[in-house]
Amino acid sequence: MFRLIAFALIAYVAYRLARKWIFGRTRSTPVNGTDPDRIDDVMVQDPQCGAYFPRRDGVALRHAGGDLLFCSRDCRDRFISANSNTGK
Ligand SMILES: [Zn+2]
Repeated sequence: MFRLIAFALIAYVAYRLARKWIFGRTRSTPVNGTDPDRIDDVMVQDPQCGAYFPRRDGVALRHAGGDLLFCSRDCRDRFISANSNTGK
């Protein structure tokens, strides 16, 4: 019987801590540009065609240790073929 009470107490404390942690995080989320949703709306330039597009719509490519973003898969494929040609 004691174990059941102890378990219930631990569960209650864990619940309170989790609630506090979640709400504390939500309230302390900065609104000055470091918000993840805002970062997704940043416009980036396509290195292949030069067009600007929202970062979240970009097609990612890992290249030379960094991540490149393209406006479309066509541009990404053109960039890959162009770079593989210059390498030889
Ligand atoms: Zn493009």
